[in-house]
Amino acid sequence: TGDQAGFPFDNTYARLPERFFTKLDPTPVQAPRLLLLNEELARELNLDPAFLRSEAGAQVLGGNTIPEGAEPLAMAYAGHQFGGWVPQLGDGRAILLGEVVDRDGGRRDIQLKGSGPTPYSRMGDGRAALGPVLREYIVSEAMAAFGIPTTRSLAVVTTGEAVFRERALPGGILTRVARSHIRVGTFQFFAARRDTDALRLLADHVIERHYPELRQAENPYSALLDAVVGRQAALIAAWMSVGFIHGVMNTDNMSVAGDTIDYGPCAFMDTYHPGTVYSSIDHGGRYAYGNQPGIAHWNLACLAQCLLPLIDDSEEKALAIAQEVINTFPDRYRAAHTERFAAKIGLETVREGDVDLIDGLLTAMEEGKADFTLTFRRLSDLTRRRGEDAAVRALFEEPGAFDAWAATWRARLAEEKRDDAARQAAMRSVNPAYIPRNHQVEAALNAAVESGDVAPLHDLRAVLQTPFVTQPGQERYEAPPMPEEEVKATFC
Ligand code: AMP
Ligand code: MG
Ligand code: MG
Repeated sequence: TGDQAGFPFDNTYARLPERFFTKLDPTPVQAPRLLLLNEELARELNLDPAFLRSEAGAQVLGGNTIPEGAEPLAMAYAGHQFGGWVPQLGDGRAILLGEVVDRDGGRRDIQLKGSGPTPYSRMGDGRAALGPVLREYIVSEAMAAFGIPTTRSLAVVTTGEAVFRERALPGGILTRVARSHIRVGTFQFFAARRDTDALRLLADHVIERHYPELRQAENPYSALLDAVVGRQAALIAAWMSVGFIHGVMNTDNMSVAGDTIDYGPCAFMDTYHPGTVYSSIDHGGRYAYGNQPGIAHWNLACLAQCLLPLIDDSEEKALAIAQEVINTFPDRYRAAHTERFAAKIGLETVREGDVDLIDGLLTAMEEGKADFTLTFRRLSDLTRRRGEDAAVRALFEEPGAFDAWAATWRARLAEEKRDDAARQAAMRSVNPAYIPRNHQVEAALNAAVESGDVAPLHDLRAVLQTPFVTQPGQERYEAPPMPEEEVKATFC
């Protein structure tokens, strides 16, 4: 156990010009105390869990001590928030300590979120309440366990200070780990300032870091756009496949690396309905479950706009190239969505008619108010024989539509090569038994925040670490909320 943090920092963003960020240290907090540590992630990052658990470790995770090699900075960015343009955003409550190279040679940002005001804080206090920090920890780690690209959570400390929202709440700081924190909004920041030199430096940095294979492309910048479109199409399809609703898909919350980023009032859907919204700030339902692909497309068009001056000197030509790339999003998204959902209903191949089969189930689920996660999980248990569907039928208000669908589904399964056992195993590996159900997340956060009881949080985290494996004795985590347990709104 060293008394030194020993973060293997190797910073590259800090080498970019001054106008990309503001260098400043986190604002110290009164009494940082470790609440959660992700030991497996610590080891992946070549960090010593024993140090992070120590008093000195809490001082680093709370922003009171700057570890050797860190170059703390707040990143500048802009963005469209709920469709409205904001020319100046930036890390208003986060500080990038630097980048480390992980066990597999990958570059990872180490960021403290909730670490005090910065020049980009606008009216905010630069702090985070413990509850939302814990939600980000639980949900981002669940996403990682699903195999969905995401930022990670290394640790949560309490600060010993109150933050004031509608009332006084305990403060928290999340140590967030990301392949990078570069957003569509980072490009927008420079595009709005017509700073083409900065745009080129940023694009080259992103290519170097996230898409090195594009260095040799004939037009690296349209290739970059194409690659981001591809990763986002895959990412949104992955979200849809587990019923995830991000909640604040502003352009400043969309990563160019294709990771899920900036978990705010996010949630997983219980009852299936495309119009589902949980975020307390999304009054118009702009970021409802079913709107996510369209919003991603819109956000990517914003990125395309930024890249125009890099794509070609002729604006007309650049526009034509970018438009063509952006136009590929709907088809790429649909292909990714079909692939995900075909796997969810046990199809190894996608054939003509399968899209209708998938849509047919979703329509029956919507009309029958079926639980999204349980429908697919229980479907995984069915065989090609009829008459054993009671557990799935029970999820539908009117099982008739499901029965009709199931007959078509079984006919389609008969065309597949796999036997029941192989198909069931494959289905269980893509249809989680456990998701971070909103009511359970809320209950676990409340126990930690209100009574300092972290046991429910640890239990929830443990069950979500292997979400595809049914764990005996954990049935309560599979269950949708009882009507009185339902949590309809999430806050950030
Ligand atoms: P978000 O939508 O939560 O990702 O945040 C949008 C912008 O508001 C970002 O620039 C954040 O840094 C900033 N922000 C959010 N909350 C705070 C806060 N409490 N203090 C300062 N800035 C904040
Ligand atoms: Mg600066
Ligand atoms: Mg954000």
